[in-house]
Amino acid sequence: MIKKIFLLLMLVVFVCCGCGKKQQEVYTNDLQTIIERDKLIVGVKTDTYPFGYKDKKGRYLGYDPALGRLIAKGILGDEKKIQFVPVTTSDRMMKLYSGDVDMLIATMSITPKRKQLIMFSKPYHVAGQAVLVKKGSLIKNLQDLSDKKVIIVFGSTSEKSIRLAVPGVGIVGAKTYPAALQLLKSGKADAIVSDDTILLGMALRDKSVELLPKRYSKEPYGVALRNGPESVDLLTAVNNVIDIETHNGHLKKIKASYGIK
Ligand code: GLU
Repeated sequence: MIKKIFLLLMLVVFVCCGCGKKQQEVYTNDLQTIIERDKLIVGVKTDTYPFGYKDKKGRYLGYDPALGRLIAKGILGDEKKIQFVPVTTSDRMMKLYSGDVDMLIATMSITPKRKQLIMFSKPYHVAGQAVLVKKGSLIKNLQDLSDKKVIIVFGSTSEKSIRLAVPGVGIVGAKTYPAALQLLKSGKADAIVSDDTILLGMALRDKSVELLPKRYSKEPYGVALRNGPESVDLLTAVNNVIDIETHNGHLKKIKASYGIK
């Protein structure tokens, strides 16, 4: 009897450990999770006019939330089935990986380095890095910045590219874009380097600063997903929405409504 119980126990341990058969990996499917939840959770910026910002009533506005609503409509049949979570340039990747959001639509440039960590949709906009200065500044291009102080937002592509383009430049870091603008206006630094569309948004709202005409990079924006098999179906769904809404002219109209070229 004792021998029988011992053998039974051994069998239970054997089966529970999965030693008796080939281990099967179980993946979740993010698209399925969204469909079952009946709500899409999207990380968007709130400090990046005209791509992601909030109005006085707390509504999420800009091109990025608008694209999010189209994706919710494409996946769940209703653009209202969406919850926005505010993210910043520096915390967006963490919020994606911690599972706080299903995806990021957050002025995020597709770069080879980021592609090692996250999956990107096809581009839905192409920006370019540019320089914002105080009106009347003697700075006319990137080279004029060599003995100056430049503001970058932590976690952005310009944080790295400005060090490469202008070695020895003084860097002043800001956590958000409004904080960056305040640093420029207060004279704590001489210029902001970031995407043209974001800087143009600042220049349109504040006449004391101006955007220099030259562009120094191509910054294709993609919807960011976690990197892994759980994202494959979701990626297809997102790319389908971008294709459809590009061909029917909807994305172009949204861009135009926000003055984005
Ligand atoms: N597109 C750039 C980036 O992905 C800058 C915009 C931003 O801070 O989100 O880093």
